[in-house]
Amino acid sequence: MNISKFPYFDNNATTPIHPEVIKVLSNYHQDYYGNPSSKAHPIGIICNALLEKHKKEISELLNVSENDIIFTSGSTESINLAIKGIYFQYSSQKRHIISCKTEHSAVLETLLYLKEHFNCDLTLLEVDANGNIKLDELEKNIREDTLMVCIMTANNETGVIHPIHDIHTITQKKKVLFFSDTTQAFGKMKLDKIPADIFCASSHKFHGCKGIGLLVIRNFNRKIFLHPILHGGQQQVIRSGTIPLPLVASLAKALSIIIENSDKYITHTHKIRNYFEKQLSLKHNIHVHGKSASRISNTSNIMCEPQHYETFIKLMKTFCYSHGSACSDGAGKPSHVLKSMELSDAQIKRSFRFSFSHFNSIHEIDMFLNELDKTINGMQF
Ligand code: PLP
Repeated sequence: MNISKFPYFDNNATTPIHPEVIKVLSNYHQDYYGNPSSKAHPIGIICNALLEKHKKEISELLNVSENDIIFTSGSTESINLAIKGIYFQYSSQKRHIISCKTEHSAVLETLLYLKEHFNCDLTLLEVDANGNIKLDELEKNIREDTLMVCIMTANNETGVIHPIHDIHTITQKKKVLFFSDTTQAFGKMKLDKIPADIFCASSHKFHGCKGIGLLVIRNFNRKIFLHPILHGGQQQVIRSGTIPLPLVASLAKALSIIIENSDKYITHTHKIRNYFEKQLSLKHNIHVHGKSASRISNTSNIMCEPQHYETFIKLMKTFCYSHGSACSDGAGKPSHVLKSMELSDAQIKRSFRFSFSHFNSIHEIDMFLNELDKTINGMQF
């Protein structure tokens, strides 16, 4: 089936893979299939050298040390490793963790698991109607026994950006760890040096392939220790499992493309997103969630008028966008993010997320807007 006929506006769920990344994947699967840990023979040695080379590239792109990087299967694993790893390592000293109600379920469910089964003392900060936390609330809640603050950089459903530089300043002053889920940030906002002790990435969110991600723990070997959650051959000491060199090479490629072109991509998606919101609001009484907040460039979460709900649902047969986040879609529950932003279940039901990429065009937006008009007019007869 030719899926390219369906305009794709669901890039916060996952992205189409970049052709250059496919080339790398294919070459490496063909030529460099060796296990980088098999250092007793030439193929293993060559693969190990390539692994080190790509690790270095990635560390330079992220402005971190090579020792700070742990490859994982994606952000869900990175988040579990970060939160459980830190908690299991340090909970005999400190048990209090601060996070926020609008975090991704990978963060929230991990924290709730620790609360339920391991006595974690959890504070979840509220957000205002625009999805912003209050920095003074954060500071007020940090106590002697606070181990870590987990606040995402950019929200996957609304695109709202948290003030991570300020959060970092506060956590440094109070001497607590700061973990930020940066999954949705790459290529969608300016990020010179990520101001967090621990952060993560998932390659399929920036035109890489699925099944590879990373966790960064700054000064890993010197300052912060993690308890492993996967036990086995200890290939990456605290993360066991054969390191998939072709996926690592493809991650390095995807990351280099997204970071080296980020100004261009941000300008493009910003232009498309603003055009979409402006054109929609010329004819419709839409509300844009988080409009007054600072947002990543590609995301638009809009609430349509009650009479147009069915039309937006109907158009999902030909245009790809999301009704709630991909995860909450699956669970059939109203979005916890929008709920925290003071919206009723009925309002959440009328909310749709459009997330664009540099592969989208104004022409595709016009196609959607024309189809929306046609369908609404058709429904009136
Ligand atoms: N964190 C955020 C903000 C996300 O948007 C996602 C995916 O939607 C994840 C974590 C989990 O990423 P993955 O599904 O790649 O493990």
